[in-house]
Amino acid sequence: MHDSTSSPDYTTLIGTLRTSFGAGRSRPISWRIQQLSAIDHLVGQHEREITDALHADVGKPFLESLGAELTFLRSEAKYAIRRLRLWTRKRKVNSPVALQPAKSYIQPEPLGLVLIIGPWNYPFQLILSPLLGAIAAGNCAIVKPSELAPATSSLLAQLIGQYLDTSCIRVVEGGIAETTQLLQQRFDHIFYTGNGTVGRIILRAAAENLTPVTLELGGKSPCIIDASADLDVTARRITWGKFFNAGQTCVAPDYLLVHSSVHDALVARIKATIQQFYGADPKESPDYARIVNLRHHRRLCALLGSGDVAVGGEADEENLYLAPTLLTHVPADSAVMAEEIFGPILPVLSISSIDEAIHFVKAREKPLALYVFSKDEAVQRRVIHSTSSGGVAVNHVWLHLAVPGLPFGGVGQSGMGAYHGRWTFETFSHRKAVLVKSTKVDPTLFYPPYTELKARWIRRLL
Ligand code: NAD
Repeated sequence: MHDSTSSPDYTTLIGTLRTSFGAGRSRPISWRIQQLSAIDHLVGQHEREITDALHADVGKPFLESLGAELTFLRSEAKYAIRRLRLWTRKRKVNSPVALQPAKSYIQPEPLGLVLIIGPWNYPFQLILSPLLGAIAAGNCAIVKPSELAPATSSLLAQLIGQYLDTSCIRVVEGGIAETTQLLQQRFDHIFYTGNGTVGRIILRAAAENLTPVTLELGGKSPCIIDASADLDVTARRITWGKFFNAGQTCVAPDYLLVHSSVHDALVARIKATIQQFYGADPKESPDYARIVNLRHHRRLCALLGSGDVAVGGEADEENLYLAPTLLTHVPADSAVMAEEIFGPILPVLSISSIDEAIHFVKAREKPLALYVFSKDEAVQRRVIHSTSSGGVAVNHVWLHLAVPGLPFGGVGQSGMGAYHGRWTFETFSHRKAVLVKSTKVDPTLFYPPYTELKARWIRRLL
């Protein structure tokens, strides 16, 4: 990492990578497959080191790292390898009658040199998962892991240097100073995951060079629970999805909107489930993560005053521990309802109807994810069709992001662009339009002199 007082110069690095791209080094399908396999091997061969680094950075339980970072990445890598030839193929489209004879097709092509900037909460996966798509699409890339997960950042630098072709793919470690310098360079795409405040900085910097940007941001993802919901299953799924990684997940349910008729029963069941998952004292549980740093710990503790603490609330600053916490009687205008919580605090708000829940959601920014628990399909449909969010899961939380066919991304303030599966390849590709005409026939229809007869034909054909 660079000293924050020095000003790193990335011109030479960018020049090297641009030369590689210009020479076509990252274009051959064989190169792409080899690099994608190398990521698969890198993850498979260093499972323990990676999960240890994630534990050192965020206290992640082994199984949470294994599922949400390592296995997820390996299956995305294998998925891309299997489909790469299909994705890179030209895609024929019909040419209109007036342009016949002709062939038209879309040729996916790499963008060039791309920049990927990751956050600290899933610091391994959120760097390598976009990188898979950048490679699959034939680009060169610089990745910049989060400085707030230093063990993972330095492991990524080491492993990428060891496994990948460094004439095309490099890691830059560092924080604000380094990223600011990087952003002064010209890239062909910037892929940023993190908070919206920095998202705006990225977008402003990208505008200088008209660089396209993907912003994977966050927000307050609501979870609506209808009176018909299966409360036992609902309690388990919400407890798991909220307290996974101690709530530091961009798609974690941020708050619950629970029908008043089942409010107390659901709170009781979530309370029981927390105990079932993490024992009487979650602080002792090996399955419960820690808050990333003191700043976030203090920020979260300050939110405990919004409403009544119905479950949890215990905090240990030295240990960066904050108990899985439920807040009830939470005023809609309280601090905990103002910003994305991004920690293990779950406000539970009572609603009297699904319409009230829909109205509540629509009165706020479009979230990254929205969840509805209901056995009633009409209610499920109504929620899906009358709200807007990056994605929706019905009767579960955030598992939609594990479906490679579904684009994962936000809308409005929760982000722009999407990835996962084929969508990552598309994000890092330009879809070039190609029209191929023969010179054997050359109708004079479009050429001067323009006559009434030609006008009639144009009206008929176009
Ligand atoms: P963070 O603090 O690690 O920042 C993210 C990246 O931005 C880091 O690499 C950091 O170095 C860089 N950065 C920070 N300040 C900068 C500046 N002034 N100029 C340039 N770069 C700067 O992570 P974070 O933002 O706290 O991450 C949490 C947020 O990310 C939450 O809002 C969460 O919802 C969101 N998130 C979204 C997704 C998603 O897929 N949509 C995934 C994970 C997290």
